[in-house]
Amino acid sequence: MRIKLAEKYGFCFGVKRAIKIAEENQDSATYGPLIHNANEIARLKENFNVALSNDLGDFQTGDTAVIRTHGIPKDELSLLQERQVNVIDATCPYVTKPQQICEEMSQEGYSIVIFGDEKHPEIRGVKSYADEAFVVTEVDDLKALHLKERIALVAQTTRKVDEYMKIANYLIPRYKEVRVFNTICNATFENQEAVEALSCEADVMIVIGGKNSSNTKQLFSIALANCPHSHHIEDEKDLDASWFENKELCGISAGASTPDWIIQNVVNTIEEFTR
Ligand code: SF4
Repeated sequence: MRIKLAEKYGFCFGVKRAIKIAEENQDSATYGPLIHNANEIARLKENFNVALSNDLGDFQTGDTAVIRTHGIPKDELSLLQERQVNVIDATCPYVTKPQQICEEMSQEGYSIVIFGDEKHPEIRGVKSYADEAFVVTEVDDLKALHLKERIALVAQTTRKVDEYMKIANYLIPRYKEVRVFNTICNATFENQEAVEALSCEADVMIVIGGKNSSNTKQLFSIALANCPHSHHIEDEKDLDASWFENKELCGISAGASTPDWIIQNVVNTIEEFTR
């Protein structure tokens, strides 16, 4: 059996940047998981003493708080600053952008519509920058909303473009002014295109990434649509040798929070199974 990696996979620019920032700030703590990958978070703790705290109350004057890649709500950031916590911002610039758009457009009197998952940390953060924002996941969600005549539309960075277009296409003919901001991240898009191509030719697909990673779940859903023998795993321990029996081509992709060392462990384990 051959093993083939997708043309684009794994760590994106924003995650590489956040990890570098964390490594440069030893003896600190991230507020919330820096990225959606428990193994990498454990490595940062072990090698750099960068801890993880999910409780804002843990940060006191003089502590160093590293802000996660997905960003945090504005009021929580203000609270850390008021407490004179040393705030190191590792928010991905592609997430900072929709935060800024929401703030500016909201101040200019636009209704803010966000296409994304209300519970996702990125969206909790982005939403907090608007006075009022409506989070939608499908066109039906828009029908009950009372929006102003001027609308600003942003998307969660990991969303699919064609689904975003459905939201925009619904709003544009119904309102006087609709400003559509392309806040979808290219890294996600490129990984999605690559997994689409590879899953069309593979007999078995392995998608590696955190079970709570939104972009890994997107990659897995694309893989599964083309290759019924697709599996979403967190690391090599989740692999099952039977998945590779009588298969000729195994395709591998990984979410934007998956480090290369985990991908390599997975490749090595599959090679051992099929040797
Ligand atoms: S996937 Fe894109 S938006 Fe998300 S952290 Fe990576 S570069 Fe930033």
